[in-house]
Amino acid sequence: MYNVKSKIATEFIDDTEIQETLDYAQKNKNNRSLIESILEKAKSCKGLSHREAMVLLDCDEPDLVEKMYALAMEIKQRFYGNRIVMFAPLYLSNYCVNGCRYCPYHYKNKHIPRKQLSQEDIVREVVALQDMGHKRLALETGEDPVNCPIEYVLESIKTIYGIKHKNGAIRRVNVNIAATTVENYRKLKEAGIGTYILFQETYNKESYEYLHPTGPKSNYAYHTEAMDRAMEGGIDDVGCGVLFGLNMYRYDFVGLLMHAEHLEAAMGVGPHTISVPRIRPADDVDVNDYSNAVPDEIFQKIVAVLRIAVPYTGIIISTRESQKTREKVLHLGVSQISGGSRTSVGGYAEPEPEDSSQFEISDNRTLDQVVNWLLDMGYIPSFCTACYREGRTGDRFMSLVKSGQIANCCQPNALMTLKEYLEDYASPDTKAKGEALIRREIPNIPNEKVRALVEKHMVELHNGMRDFRV
Ligand code: SF4
Ligand code: SF4
Repeated sequence: MYNVKSKIATEFIDDTEIQETLDYAQKNKNNRSLIESILEKAKSCKGLSHREAMVLLDCDEPDLVEKMYALAMEIKQRFYGNRIVMFAPLYLSNYCVNGCRYCPYHYKNKHIPRKQLSQEDIVREVVALQDMGHKRLALETGEDPVNCPIEYVLESIKTIYGIKHKNGAIRRVNVNIAATTVENYRKLKEAGIGTYILFQETYNKESYEYLHPTGPKSNYAYHTEAMDRAMEGGIDDVGCGVLFGLNMYRYDFVGLLMHAEHLEAAMGVGPHTISVPRIRPADDVDVNDYSNAVPDEIFQKIVAVLRIAVPYTGIIISTRESQKTREKVLHLGVSQISGGSRTSVGGYAEPEPEDSSQFEISDNRTLDQVVNWLLDMGYIPSFCTACYREGRTGDRFMSLVKSGQIANCCQPNALMTLKEYLEDYASPDTKAKGEALIRREIPNIPNEKVRALVEKHMVELHNGMRDFRV
């Protein structure tokens, strides 16, 4: 029985509710008056229910799809302006006791080298990441209580925050580790993590159980209820996602929105971010085994409808996607991207070791090339981490976003952190483009006092001072 507030996975992700939603959407996918009214409602930026969003996703009337895209762009512009937040993944360990069929780190894969970074390795990796210009990391590990216990993750976070190399600093460490206990989430919170990220992979229980035949991750309920436990442990910002291509994208799309609705209803705050990875080739993984692959046009529509349905939630896209795809979805609602990523353990400090990556990267450009490309498209690459460091997390963050006040922080912080990047790491061409963009953008800061402050800080940044934020 569907119950959005229930703490039981199969009640807040109720299969019957999803099936009925999918039927309803199919029946109404050409119902123009309904679709027009949903789009009208969405204009107020209060979000949509999973049913309304699914009707939009199924609709294939070209003029209405165009309207959806235009609205997604408008909402994106209103909340996020032209800023794109940058981050990089850092793989700490690929030991894993789980048997996930779609991931090369599954325990039965004997041809992949197993590796765990020592604290000295982490220093080398993080120095390399700082030398690229990164300020925000997402830590990734496989699940292995013996080879990769929570104490190791906590020690690694401490090491990372402690590394001060030249002008570099990692100012926000997000963590993507296996579902765990409230007690461990509390420890992660105390270690100062930003967002706790956990992908559901698929919300369909039957497919989930097929795809995760062995290991702790095979427990659907424990995995699906993890975000509730994370929030009980005091983590305000959680990041959801599914691996598109594992199950029917329609089912997972509805499940994802129901999960967001559940967190808002039961825990008082929805997900901070949603990631939209699609399955990629990797060692021991053949994408042809997954007949539910999501085509590009559908993928774009997923991003656009998510932007309309959950306007306050950041949307993340990784280097799994090609430059071309990333360019398309940036316009439709993506607000955070990775750049210069390595998906192997120890891939930043040394040339990528063979066969140890979790998946093949499509976008292989350096961070500087990605920044340069964003500048060419008129985006502001932002290395901002201000909210978490100012205690603007969870519902405090959401109320600032919902009232639109966040815009007074993001724009100036984006420009100041871009300036740091240009001073310390950019190639001459990127620097010239970035400086021109900053000159163009400063007059757009609405608040006169903030504008004056930013102008003052720009001079100070040029003179070697660092780490300003509003
Ligand atoms: S997806 Fe995660 S849990 Fe599953 S095998 Fe890969 S690393 Fe392990
Ligand atoms: S000010 Fe806050 S919301 Fe805006 S980019 Fe920085 S951290 Fe993100």
